[in-house]
Amino acid sequence: MTAPKVLGATSGGDVGGRVEHVARRPSWCCRACGEPWPCPPAKDQLVADFDRIGLCLYAALQLADAAADLPELTPAQLFPRFLTWARDAHRRAADQRLSPASSTPAEDPS
Ligand SMILES: [Zn+2]
Repeated sequence: MTAPKVLGATSGGDVGGRVEHVARRPSWCCRACGEPWPCPPAKDQLVADFDRIGLCLYAALQLADAAADLPELTPAQLFPRFLTWARDAHRRAADQRLSPASSTPAEDPS
């Protein structure tokens, strides 16, 4: 198993001269784009790197760290930023797999 390419709170973020979309603590802004982490590129990479359960567990751990670093943010602000998107991202992907545009109902051969 390889480590995820995008990590929430690392001390680095510079891989081969390219700045990764990782969080800068304690501000929790992205080191690459400055957006609140996880930024859209970070979310895309996290979805690619983790399965649904792994992503939700990872997101929950990041939420706990962010809650300690950002006491001014309420749970109502932290939860969607760090956790809800992760649940919804894989739900959307599953919905797209279940209802492709070219789907046709299976016919009973009898
Ligand atoms: Zn970013």
